Amino acid sequence: MRFSTTGAKNGNTVSFKEAVFHCLPQTGGLYIPAIMPDIRAAMYPMDEKAGYNELVAPVTGALLEDEMDEAGARRVAASCAGIAPELEILDERFSILHLTNGPTGTFKDFSAAFLGAVLNELLRPEEHLLVLSQAVQALGASISGAFAPYPNITTVLLYPEGSIYGLNEDAFRRPGSAGNIIPVRIAGSLDDCNRLINEILLDEQWTRRYSTTSATAINPARLIPQAFFYVYAFIKLKKTLSQDLFFSVPSGNFGNLIAGLYAWKFGLPVNGFIAAMNINNALGDLWKRRNLYPNAPDYKAPPRSRPAVTLSPALDVHYPANHELLLALYDEVPAVMRNMVFPQVITDEETEKSMEFAWKRYNVILDPHSAVAFMAALKHAGRRDFDGHIVTLATGHPARYPALLERVTGQKIDIPPRIALLQKKSEPLADIPCELDMLESVIASCF
Ligand SMILES: *Cc1c(COP(=O)(O)O)cnc(C)c1O
Repeated sequence: MRFSTTGAKNGNTVSFKEAVFHCLPQTGGLYIPAIMPDIRAAMYPMDEKAGYNELVAPVTGALLEDEMDEAGARRVAASCAGIAPELEILDERFSILHLTNGPTGTFKDFSAAFLGAVLNELLRPEEHLLVLSQAVQALGASISGAFAPYPNITTVLLYPEGSIYGLNEDAFRRPGSAGNIIPVRIAGSLDDCNRLINEILLDEQWTRRYSTTSATAINPARLIPQAFFYVYAFIKLKKTLSQDLFFSVPSGNFGNLIAGLYAWKFGLPVNGFIAAMNINNALGDLWKRRNLYPNAPDYKAPPRSRPAVTLSPALDVHYPANHELLLALYDEVPAVMRNMVFPQVITDEETEKSMEFAWKRYNVILDPHSAVAFMAALKHAGRRDFDGHIVTLATGHPARYPALLERVTGQKIDIPPRIALLQKKSEPLADIPCELDMLESVIASCF
């Protein structure tokens, strides 16, 4: 699989390894697949009996054909597919794809596990890699859990004021320990953390000394494995499906939606994606300005400098980190994309209604993010002449929002031990101002 960069005028491409090990192109832009590999030969022989790991190995093999052999793809699958999505078919119109079986209960566990496994597989035994990530909410726990098993990878987690939760302190890189996780608190905002990561990736002197990459969503190996979700739902449904197939995706930074579009470009037969947003309507303005959706839902939120706080915090995004990747897809074929991606904006009130309806009608408990997407699916299905099946991606575990769900559904919410662990606070190994030099010296002192 070869990658080019968004906005690049030349036809230069880099390998998958280059794109994931140096995920911020020196020339600006972000990496996008240059030519979409075709996974149909790997996908079509599988049916509803195939387990998730049986899918990950051949699809990874098909995608990375020129860089990883079959045995390598099988090792990657064995390391990352210990957790699996679960498709719950509600009726002939709706399904839920639960992506909440991982350690922290979000779909990000799947991409973190794949990223760790793929980096480890592509790393030669004498190589060492430094990985940086921001670590708000459960992402820190997700990434550190996925990366702790790989001794040749050291992971630095940056987070803004406040605390970090759910990390295994035995994996911390303290003097004399074999640990490989370095949590660092930055006096600044989440944007500051992301900016520091980009600065360190662009510091040539540093990256010559320490091979450094990022585990944030700019890394293509975080996005690619999310395409597997859609393939998995398709193979589970294909025998019974007689209608068009749609996916409803809770969208904040649009990583998951872009991965769905990649799956489509890799050869998945799918008829459309519903971009389910909360009132922050993350891409609404952009889409409107480009006149892509003249009839797009026109929710007028008051102008403000920060996103509104809603019941679905992971969707409280004003300026999606992945907008460049999405726009690159739109620029290629705007008319096709307009008939492939359907925006929906869902209010908090509708989110609660959705949770209540999912419980009363289908006995399913949905977290608020999943509920945004389910309401968007219900609305889309209500269109005149609609005759399709919509798979709603359930991206977060309901046990992370017990009070809200107990109020809305009247049910007692069980909290699995792994989700309860996310309440455990950890102290950082360093607490520093938002300065590149400080961060570099903290990391250097760990070697
Ligand atoms: C991160 C996250 C999302 C948003 O996904 P994007 O890929 O950023 O659009 C949705 N739901 C949950 C639970 C999340 O953690």
